[in-house]
Amino acid sequence: MDVIVIGGGIAGIATAHQLHAAGHSVCVVERHATVAQGATYGQGGALLPSSLDVWFGPTFMASNRAKQSGMLVKTGFDSVARDFLKQLATLRDPEAFAARYALLQPLVEMSRQVLADIETALELEFEQRRGVLHVFRQPRELEDAQPAIDLLKRFGVPHRVLTPEECVAVEPSVPDDPEFAGGVLLPDERTANCPLFTKQLKQVLEDGGVQFRMHREAVGVRLEGARAAVELAEPGEGKKRSSDIEVITADAIVVTAGTGTPALAGGGKQPNALYALRVHTLTAPVAYEERAPHLTVVDSTKRITMTRVNQRLRVAGAGVFQSASKADKPLDAGLSRRALDLLGQGTHDWVPGAARVSAARAWEGLRLISVDGLPVVGATRHPRLFVNAAHGPAGWGLACGSAKVIADLVSGITPDVPADTIAALSIERF
Ligand SMILES: Cc1cc2nc3c(=O)[nH]c(=O)nc-3n(C[C@H](O)[C@H](O)[C@H](O)COP(=O)(O)OP(=O)(O)OC[C@H]3O[C@@H](n4cnc5c(N)ncnc54)[C@H](O)[C@@H]3O)c2cc1C
Repeated sequence: MDVIVIGGGIAGIATAHQLHAAGHSVCVVERHATVAQGATYGQGGALLPSSLDVWFGPTFMASNRAKQSGMLVKTGFDSVARDFLKQLATLRDPEAFAARYALLQPLVEMSRQVLADIETALELEFEQRRGVLHVFRQPRELEDAQPAIDLLKRFGVPHRVLTPEECVAVEPSVPDDPEFAGGVLLPDERTANCPLFTKQLKQVLEDGGVQFRMHREAVGVRLEGARAAVELAEPGEGKKRSSDIEVITADAIVVTAGTGTPALAGGGKQPNALYALRVHTLTAPVAYEERAPHLTVVDSTKRITMTRVNQRLRVAGAGVFQSASKADKPLDAGLSRRALDLLGQGTHDWVPGAARVSAARAWEGLRLISVDGLPVVGATRHPRLFVNAAHGPAGWGLACGSAKVIADLVSGITPDVPADTIAALSIERF
């Protein structure tokens, strides 16, 4: 079949890869001049989420105060944004959390397998590192994380719950003073460079004959004809002059447009189901080699991830929830500074002296998250339209497993994940 993939982030490139491998003829449309320019560019490094990494559950935003939660909330009176947070908060209940995470786990496992297959087949090097240490400041935070730790046990994820002394022993860059409650070591979980991986995979696809339409924006999707069609225009020009619109057609379309997905594929009937969350990174040069962490250190409650990438430390987190109408607008300088301060403080608290934060390069980006914490992956009501988006804050590895699900569905094959997971990921759930 001919398939058009809209979006050249990790989700789009991974989807194109799986479709191409399944024998389809693929065209990728991207509005930037190159791939990996959206959320994929700024990702913090963690490859696959564990139950401790997802941005829902008992420890996520248990406090409304940025200093404790690691998130800034400025929703004002915006009922859409507040309803979104209210619904997300229902997943703090341990049973609700466990039930929701259990639906995600098969996709995590499929993603692990897909990534392993790609790495073996293509022998890609994309700065992979092994070992993630989640740390907890207060005993109460560690207690709150117990349901997530129980899920690690339940799903056979190798891990060790550590005392503070053991944390310092496995990662000497973590200071033993001031006191902290302890940590959880995930020795096999990995971090890597997602934009590098995306670009390498794009090159493989280009060499294999996948077509790329760069610097073209999809401004509309038409599904009424015998073939599906995508309207293309100059980026930023919209549909101003119909003579400037180019129409390309295919048997199927997969929307992998990150935060641009709802506009093209529809966001479902529930208006507050998907939210474009602004998240930040700081990339700082390593200051003292002996103080730089060799494991990725995560302030588990605040969801601040500190990853060593060669001679740099990448610090990611500090989500900003503001009114839905402002979500995709640039942040005002004050909020931006507060978000970056949270990351700077996280670095100072957990890996002091590791990086020159004053020389850090700051970046912010939007990532689409859903109100029930799960990605939006699969078929839609229209048989020619598919979606692979909203993988959330720990989404880049997941986008690869989701790509396999999409390729199977497009090919008419039942994906190798349970039916209740497929239903839980469907955009039709909203
Ligand atoms: C600061 C930050 C830190 C993160 N840290 C991690 C992490 O540590 N681990 C992890 O797993 N995940 C992390 N994530 C999330 C991860 O980056 C995302 O889940 C993933 O990159 C999303 O990929 P995507 O392809 O869906 O979206 P994007 O990368 O945003 O790609 C969408 C693409 O579609 C294009 N597009 C949109 N609309 C159109 C249109 N109409 N026409 C043509 N092209 C269009 C965009 O230009 C873009 O290139 C982080 C994200 C951010 C922002």
